[in-house]
Amino acid sequence: MEVTGILVKMETELKAPENGGDGIARYFLRIGDERLGLNKYLDHEIQLLYRNEIRCIHCGRLTKKSYGQGYCYPCFISLPETDACIIRPELCQAHLGISRDMAWSEEHCLQDHYVYLALSGGLKVGVTRRSQVPTRWIDQGARQAIILAKTPNRHLAGEIEVALKAHLSDKTNWRLMLTREAPEEIDLIAVKHNIRDKIPEDMQGYYFDDDRLTNIRYPVKRYPEKVKSLNFDKNPAVGGKLTGIKGQYLIFFDGSVFNIRRHSGYLTEITIK
Ligand SMILES: [Zn+2]
Repeated sequence: MEVTGILVKMETELKAPENGGDGIARYFLRIGDERLGLNKYLDHEIQLLYRNEIRCIHCGRLTKKSYGQGYCYPCFISLPETDACIIRPELCQAHLGISRDMAWSEEHCLQDHYVYLALSGGLKVGVTRRSQVPTRWIDQGARQAIILAKTPNRHLAGEIEVALKAHLSDKTNWRLMLTREAPEEIDLIAVKHNIRDKIPEDMQGYYFDDDRLTNIRYPVKRYPEKVKSLNFDKNPAVGGKLTGIKGQYLIFFDGSVFNIRRHSGYLTEITIK
């Protein structure tokens, strides 16, 4: 099979377990108008070829470089979805009526948010809009996640996260995430209970009492010992036998990995054998 089109972030879903076990992450590669279920191509040869053109995923204009994972520069500096609060939720000012686009922020920032703990490369704390669960966790390659706090907007969740950063990482270690299933023997429920009193006094009311864990398994046949990240700016041809899909990465037999999301907007030719 051969498809050429603009690449965007992989779509994911968590397939509910049939008998109460872990959910399975299912991946869909979106390229041009196609939406290819990828899980079934494990062990197949996949080649990705960069066709030397980048288009903004918002406005479609040609751009020499992609900003903020898929945008042209004018969109990057003006759209609400590329504003600083997306990376740093504590900077969100939508609750004060300040935003690049208030209509967008009503839908995205002034909605219920979660502060969560997850095991991906290591133990981490993060923030996400309620409707982004479990997508956000799959995008980070989390093996397990639990909700720590629920807030009515993005800013408050960011404030709690900032208070916890002194005790927990807020970054995904993608290298570790791609070389092992999860860090060993960390009891997320115990971590949640221990970290509870680090939530600032005036925000204790947002603590989330439900200790339900979300467990996610990924379509990975084999974890490489060492990974080498390839990107189209340096390697216009990438591929090999697909041995895994995790986070937004394809993992190949030789240990090379390719971040699909990072290449949103790149015109790509994909061949699957
Ligand atoms: Zn644009």
